[in-house]
Parts: sequence; C-alpha cells; structure tokens
Amino acid sequence: MSSSLLTTYSGRLTETLPRVREQIAAAEVAAGRVEGSVRLIAVTKSHPIECVEAALQAGLRDLGENRVEELEGKVEHFGADAATWHMIGHLQSRKAQRAVAVADMVHSVDSLKLARKMSSALVEDRGLVEVLAQVNTSGEESKSGFAVASAFDEIAEMSELPGLHVKGLMTMAPFVEDEAVLTTAFASLRRLSESLVSNVDGFGAELSMGMTNDLDVAIREGSTMVRIGTALFGPRTGYTT
Ligand SMILES: *Cc1c(COP(=O)(O)O)cnc(C)c1O
Repeated sequence: MSSSLLTTYSGRLTETLPRVREQIAAAEVAAGRVEGSVRLIAVTKSHPIECVEAALQAGLRDLGENRVEELEGKVEHFGADAATWHMIGHLQSRKAQRAVAVADMVHSVDSLKLARKMSSALVEDRGLVEVLAQVNTSGEESKSGFAVASAFDEIAEMSELPGLHVKGLMTMAPFVEDEAVLTTAFASLRRLSESLVSNVDGFGAELSMGMTNDLDVAIREGSTMVRIGTALFGPRTGYTT
C-alpha cells in the first residue's frame, strides 16, 4: 500500500464525506423522510486498495464494486468482515458462482437466467445471499435489467428461488440532467416495488437508486440506498486487479 496515495484519498474524503452526508440528510428532510433512513453505499470501483483503506478509516462500511475480479481482490486484501460488500455491476451468468461467494449483497440481478445460476450455486454451498432485482426503468438498450413490462412476473418468480433473499429493487436512471426524466425512472421503480411488496410474500422494500448526479431526485422518490462514487472519491483512476 502506498502511504501517499492513502493520504490523498483520506484527505479527499475529509472534504467530500461530510458534504455527501449533508446532501443526503437535506434530501431526506426535503422529502419528509426520516433522517438517516437512506444507506450510503460508497462505490470504490476502479479505485485502488488505498481508496478502500481510506473509506474504512473514515467509517464507511458499505462498499460497492462492479467487477467480480476487483471485488475478489479487495475482499481478499481486507477480509470478508471488514465491510459489507455490494456487487453493483452487470454479471455474466458464468460468474454467478464467484459473485455469490464474495458479495454480501448483489444489486445487479438482471435476468431470471442469472438468478437461477446464483440460486443453484448457493444451494450447492448451502449459502444465502441478499439480492436486488435490477430493472431497466429507462428502456435504454445500453442498460441491463428486467424490462418493465415483464418485471412483475419474472421478479415474483425469482423471489421463489432457494438461496436468494430478495430484499428489493435496483435501477440506474438515464445519464441526463432532466429532472422529469429522472423522476419518471425512479417513480416507476417505486411503483413496481409497491406492487411486489403487497403481492409477493416476504418481498423486501429496499430501493437501490441514486448516484452522484441524481441522488436528490432518487431520495425524493423513495430511495433507501444510494450508490455514490465520484462525489466521494473523485474521477475513477481505471485501476484494475
Ligand atoms: C459506478 C456506479 C455507481 C456510482 O456512480 P457515480 O456517478 O460515480 O456516483 C453507481 N451505481 C452503479 C451501478 C455503478 O456502476
């Protein structure tokens, strides 16, 4: 570990973390939500281990990664118990087994095929993993996730698979500034969540939505977990394991 890199990340967090926490708290209050009800997932993807070390030293305990290889490397370095490790990026089915072996929560379960692979891996290992179903609320081809039209039925089916503890839903809004577009995407996830929670036994009410550019709107629309990278750690460095 490089001590100067650690100092850089720690110094940056001293400025950014209080700001991000204030922004979240202000959005909670503005939305009439309980302060502290939104969980901050610090997205350390594409940043080196010094970044993770700085995050842990700053008291952050929910860390998000988007590549299995990088998640494995960081979990190996810090230990499974050092943090709650969130897998937030697209997963190929052939990596399902590796993902469930290291992640505490997988936000990016985006198809029944992947869910079934994860379930079989977990049944073999007698494990249980918390998952969220990722929904493509924008309809953009570049985004993965269950299509809104078939999401209810497929996610209901997913929630019956052994080994998977379905805690709720996740989405990524389009990368735009237009608040109306963001609101539409987040509100559609919330409505889907409401119908799954009332119709599917034991379905969880978590809503993982909101990133650096859209966290205020996401919290106003009911987010329970925001995934924040850039606002905390600056531009990604392209580090890979
Ligand atoms: C990278 C990433 C984030 C964090 O994005 P920022 O804009 O840097 O806050 C959140 N969610 C997912 C799925 C990501 O891949």
